[in-house]
Amino acid sequence: MSKFTRRDFLKTGVGVGAAAFVPVGLGRAAALTATAGARPRVVSSGNGIRATQKAMEILKAGGDPLDAVIAGVNIVEDDPDDMSVGYGGLPNEDGVVELDSSVMYGPTHTAGAVAALRNIKNPSKVARLVMERTDHVLLVGEGALKFARAHGFKEEDLLTEQSREAWLRWKETMSDVDNWFPPKTEGLPAEMRSVMQTHGTINCIALDGSGRLAGVTTTSGLSWKLAGRVGDSPIIGAGLYVDNEIGAAGSTGRGEANLQTCASFRIVDAMGRGLSPEQACLEACKAVAAKTKLIPRLCDVQGRPKFGLDFYALNKKGEFGAGGFYQGGRYAVHDGVDNKLRDVAYLFKNPGDGR
Ligand code: ASP
Repeated sequence: MSKFTRRDFLKTGVGVGAAAFVPVGLGRAAALTATAGARPRVVSSGNGIRATQKAMEILKAGGDPLDAVIAGVNIVEDDPDDMSVGYGGLPNEDGVVELDSSVMYGPTHTAGAVAALRNIKNPSKVARLVMERTDHVLLVGEGALKFARAHGFKEEDLLTEQSREAWLRWKETMSDVDNWFPPKTEGLPAEMRSVMQTHGTINCIALDGSGRLAGVTTTSGLSWKLAGRVGDSPIIGAGLYVDNEIGAAGSTGRGEANLQTCASFRIVDAMGRGLSPEQACLEACKAVAAKTKLIPRLCDVQGRPKFGLDFYALNKKGEFGAGGFYQGGRYAVHDGVDNKLRDVAYLFKNPGDGR
């Protein structure tokens, strides 16, 4: 059971307390009714404001929600300046960019994913083909690349000058008992001096006017990761989950913590039990925080997670929400009228020590 006090637990009305840990995968007592004619919605992580705009344009033109979310995240995958996704994403410890992505389509309850995919800048498109053109759900590494080649994807070096330089600075800073000298930092803008390990991903989920749900998550994962490391983004039930009778959920942040709790599945299941999207996201945050207490190296002095993990959710009625551990997160929502960033709900006001 969580040791968080009520005072720490800032958001009132979350109502998940110790009773939060009900078994998942149970009935659909509160399954939401179909909402044909509901206003379309697109929800994304904070780096997805262009994605929500693009996806909504497609939905309003009568397009399919999976086409919409993939076209949305492709903008970010293609952007060399977003160093967390696709082209220009930060590489693994060997300086090689390895991408993870998953897609899920509500009306057919099918999913596709790729992990540790090299040289292809739009892993979300490959994930979709895994779903639509194979009997499998997840392809990894060389097999995923071979599959992408078979479908005519162009191979290219995904490392930009910016991401190569960031990797080299990390490499040169690693140790003073190797043959690499420390990096030169004078003249570099502050944000370019950092060699910290960084996260970043885009998740985008959508509901169209006929009640069809779809989602995608795509990322270059944790920077400087071990080659072959796979995060939560391509794992159905962790980085993404869609149930067309209930809703959709996705995540960004420390994938390892999500992999150990399967949060997106939990969130959709919680919405099926009647929680609002925001309540369901916060319930998942609380579950992750409680399990993180078992791993002291990941906790601050107050026993709170020293990392970030955010969840985004959208239900069949078009209600949406997001939750994270600490105050300050933003997420993108297009509600059919406005496209704007909103505050992510949170458990704790101040970041943990060492974050
Ligand atoms: N969730 C991603 C991963 O662990 C990274 C992130 O979103 O920051 O690969």
